[in-house]
Amino acid sequence: MSKTTNIRQEETAPEGGATTHFGFKTVAEGEKAKLVHDVFEHVASRYDLMNDLMSGGLHRAWKQALIDWLNPPRGDRVFNHIDVAGGTGDIAFRILDRAGLNTHVTVCDINPHMLGVGQARAEAQAHGPRVEFVCGDAERLPFPDRSFDAYTIAFGIRNVTHIEQALADAYRVLKPGGRFLCLEFSQVAVPGLDAIYDAYSFSAIPQMGKWVTGDGEPYQYLVESIRRFPPQARFKAMIEAAGFARVQYRNVTGGVAAMHSGWRL
Ligand code: SAM
Repeated sequence: MSKTTNIRQEETAPEGGATTHFGFKTVAEGEKAKLVHDVFEHVASRYDLMNDLMSGGLHRAWKQALIDWLNPPRGDRVFNHIDVAGGTGDIAFRILDRAGLNTHVTVCDINPHMLGVGQARAEAQAHGPRVEFVCGDAERLPFPDRSFDAYTIAFGIRNVTHIEQALADAYRVLKPGGRFLCLEFSQVAVPGLDAIYDAYSFSAIPQMGKWVTGDGEPYQYLVESIRRFPPQARFKAMIEAAGFARVQYRNVTGGVAAMHSGWRL
């Protein structure tokens, strides 16, 4: 199927006031956070299962690649990490499994339903006080300046209303010498793979979402929001504009997703 038959066209903007996108819809800026909240409230209890189904388990390899690049300390060093838009705790648990005992991870997410699932998983995995869950907005993190040694955000930043503001706040909460790492869906860089990926994501994913959760709409948003996210080079420039140095990116699975890394000097 061609892109034009698979991808819904943008809908028209509401009149007056600042607007942004919610998937392919144009909405008033003030509405987006509530719409995103409703999506993740709806999917929270099936989120982990759906991740495995939608990606055929690939999200696990991508997350592992992020942890490999982060390379958290394994020894005695005190390491204070924040995982923003951390949802059900997947990134946090992987860091804790790899890092030394003096690593502490704060999972911060705007949605209490996602955090609730994460908290239950943390208890089941007996992570104890090495992990905590805090409800907060990536654009206004409830932490003082220069609090963390490293910051990760996985499949989260495309959901925020003002990406530049989230990047600025990432910079603010990192200590000098701190590391920023983002994992996000991106632009497929392998000829031929893009058409297969479009056909799969626009047809199969919302249908799968409907079977598993009873509603395909949240998954239609997820697929559309991926296409609205800036491609690799443009996102790299945004990270640099926020003040980060030595910004680099690495594609995974031919650019289906990409990891961006930068440092606060
Ligand atoms: N990082 C997790 C993972 O990789 O499995 C969860 C990713 S999930 C696709 C996106 C998460 O972003 C949701 O838990 C959602 O609540 C959160 N989110 C959306 N907007 C946010 C914001 N402005 N601030 C913090 N979290 C946000």
